[in-house]
Amino acid sequence: MILDGIWKEFLNIVRQEAGSRVVETWLKAVSINHWDDAKKIIYIQTPNKFVKDWISKNYLKIFEDNLKRLFNVSEVTIKFLDIYSDTEKDIAAVETMGSLDVAPGKSKSSYLAKKNYKSKQEISLLPARRISGFVNEYYTFDNFIVGPNNSMAYAAARAVAEKPGRLYNPLFIYGGSGLGKTHLLNAIGNAIKEWHKDLWVLYQPADHFVTEFINAIRFDKIHLFQEKYKTVDVLLVDDIQFMANKDQTQETFFHIFNFLYESGKQIVFSSDLYPSDIQGMAKRLKSRFESGFVTDVKKPSVETKVAILKKKAEAQHQVITDDVIFYVASRYSSIRELEGALVRVIAYSNLSGETINLDLAKKILFKNQAVSQNLSLDIIAGCVVKRYSCSLGDLKCNKKTKELSQIRQICMYLMKKLSDKSFRDIGDFLGKKDHTTVVHGFQKIDQLRDTDSELDIMLKGIEEDILSTH
Ligand code: ADP
Ligand code: MG
Repeated sequence: MILDGIWKEFLNIVRQEAGSRVVETWLKAVSINHWDDAKKIIYIQTPNKFVKDWISKNYLKIFEDNLKRLFNVSEVTIKFLDIYSDTEKDIAAVETMGSLDVAPGKSKSSYLAKKNYKSKQEISLLPARRISGFVNEYYTFDNFIVGPNNSMAYAAARAVAEKPGRLYNPLFIYGGSGLGKTHLLNAIGNAIKEWHKDLWVLYQPADHFVTEFINAIRFDKIHLFQEKYKTVDVLLVDDIQFMANKDQTQETFFHIFNFLYESGKQIVFSSDLYPSDIQGMAKRLKSRFESGFVTDVKKPSVETKVAILKKKAEAQHQVITDDVIFYVASRYSSIRELEGALVRVIAYSNLSGETINLDLAKKILFKNQAVSQNLSLDIIAGCVVKRYSCSLGDLKCNKKTKELSQIRQICMYLMKKLSDKSFRDIGDFLGKKDHTTVVHGFQKIDQLRDTDSELDIMLKGIEEDILSTH
């Protein structure tokens, strides 16, 4: 117990001194095995030789300096334990370094086959843990619900999974937050692991790529970093927009991309924007992104939302009546929000023992009925942005697409209705728009609301969000 406490404290220090990424990447499965008080030796357990070598080479001093203090002694010796057989060491090293997704069991054995490893028993001894970048097994094609909003992206993703590197390369999927991009990327990864067992799949969110790259430079391991990416057969890069304005990372990624592409390896990207709309991304990368197949995921229609909710409820063995399903569906436009609302309702009902009905759903999803006339513009804008899966920038900019213009007008309307700010204040907040624009926006939505019942339901939903946030 005491050792656990010391180790936790030590990790906190490393987090501060070297950054949490170091802890996440290297120290998560490391622990103090025992402390030899007589000889002042601290034995550190590592999951494999690769981690052992890496931390003893790069972090020994941090270990010595801080553990000395924490154990309250003037000198310590750190010994790293390494209890694995040669074969395991070898594989574990590849796993750890790679963030390469070698799935437990099946695809791991394909790797072993490649490397001529024989014993199946050895495989089961492998540490089950993974460092980062692995495919989330929960996200599959089977539990992805297809509607008109995502059918193109779904079809392209399936085609890519069936014939990796042969059809749409790269595949680029873009769209608002919570609309299924990460799900599709992982579904591709899972399907490839099942259908093409000999292929190595790497799923990597772009921000992890950036951090990994920075660490590689810092620790002079850039060759290892490049090697790792060049050995994959399928590279799934999520949220590529996070590479924006990171010129050096982009440069390195460009070379990795070309190498993989020329070797016929499949690459899939997701992003919140169409390639050419990503600010701060090198032109040559944007043109690579567009050179394969670009498709989007859109917000689901009410019908699709209902289908999604029904399927998700079913998966949890919950019977939920249509009125509740429709109520939830009308309130949210992103699938992430829909899921979150459903989970909250189910969790509440399970905990309280109350049956799920419309009243209960309303009670849970709309906590605060009290109408305040003075909400801050930030809160209102935040709820509008969330509901429409757009960004604050979209509200403040001057892009005049039909959809964005209406969302902006809705925002103006709600701001006027729920805050005590003047039209002029609201205009200023929304990117210095003229107050007459705000007046016009307010009047338009106010009138439209009377005749357009879908809009009215949507507005009620947002109002509830705003009030419950408040
Ligand atoms: P994004 O990456 O576009 O922000 P995610 O892929 O993380 O969105 O999706 C958010 C949540 O919604 C996830 O839990 C995901 O499983 C679910 N989801 C999204 N689209 C669908 C869909 N078409 N069918 C079923 N679940 C979906
Ligand atoms: Mg995502």
